[in-house]
Amino acid sequence: MIILHTKVIKIDREQIDASVISEAGQILKEGGLVAFPTETVYGLGANALDEEAAAKVYAAKGRPSDNPLIVHIADMESLAGIARQVPEAAHKLAEAFWPGPLTMIFPKKEAVPCGTTGGLATVAVRMPSDEIARAVIRSGGGYIAAPSANTSGRPSPTLAAHVKEDMDGKIPLILDGGPVQIGLESTIVDLTEEIPVILRPGYITLEMIKGVLGEVKMDQGLLSEDPLVHPKAPGMKYRHYAPRADLKVVEGPAKDVAAYINRRAADRKTGIICTEETRHCYACGMIKCVGTRTDERSVAEHLYEVLRAFDEEGVEAIYSESFDSPGLGQAIMNRLLKAAGHQRIDASKEKS
Ligand code: AMP
Ligand code: MG
Repeated sequence: MIILHTKVIKIDREQIDASVISEAGQILKEGGLVAFPTETVYGLGANALDEEAAAKVYAAKGRPSDNPLIVHIADMESLAGIARQVPEAAHKLAEAFWPGPLTMIFPKKEAVPCGTTGGLATVAVRMPSDEIARAVIRSGGGYIAAPSANTSGRPSPTLAAHVKEDMDGKIPLILDGGPVQIGLESTIVDLTEEIPVILRPGYITLEMIKGVLGEVKMDQGLLSEDPLVHPKAPGMKYRHYAPRADLKVVEGPAKDVAAYINRRAADRKTGIICTEETRHCYACGMIKCVGTRTDERSVAEHLYEVLRAFDEEGVEAIYSESFDSPGLGQAIMNRLLKAAGHQRIDASKEKS
């Protein structure tokens, strides 16, 4: 790969500089890559209708070629250009959650190359709410593939500095719009099945979708511990979001969890992921508070930042508390377990 100079341009969401957006749009229209903020995480943008541009995304991220890209649009009219059928349920969800952190899967039109969909006959589409993202999408031609702008496998970027860590010298431009709002990738709903199926939990929860559609299922492949049951979204089978240290998620009553972690934190360079409510329970180790349990949005917002920070500190092992609320806790736990390669410990059974 040719080494490029990576320019980072700060951009003010309140007063978007049109010349910066048009520079980004120009690069995208010429088949180049631009990283930009969305409300979920930073995205690595490419023209989704240009197979060669999509190939550059896979190369820059080191992403497996069977892991399809989400196509980002800025207005409802664009959907018809790439989706062959848009069921009534999709209109209802779009009405309720677009623009926003929701991705929907549709049968694809010819215009979308297989190089964007990882060879699938379906296409994933999202309309983000972030105004910088929307301006970049419009300026880049209206259909922008934008997976998280990290090296595959690493925690997704929630700051432009994270993008620079992973993409420096690989892409020409990063737009720095400051910290993202949500911090976890979009919820993915498959609308090609009779009953819509959630393929990846996110900020838009199962309950919220049920509230709009009545009926919705969770992909069994996400919940199963059986290695032979695969999730339907190809990307969900890979270890992901992972810090360099060995991460384990500790479950059980808070007292048992703290006791278990404290027994291990004494003798190693050990990281601890805790919450404001439990911080006082830990005596040693490198303690990082990820947010407060009274507002799990704060946990979502800081999770990847904390995982990356442990990489910087060079810790060898990380123990994290678990999150299991029926709402956003599902998405947080899904990312944490993937980052941990599904290593989970029941502290109530491990008293020594
Ligand atoms: P990322 O862009 O890194 O947030 O990852 C996109 C996620 O969407 C991955 O888990 C993909 O496997 C999933 N995805 C994208 N397109 C499709 C599709 N057509 N069908 C099922 N899953 C998809
Ligand atoms: Mg990703």
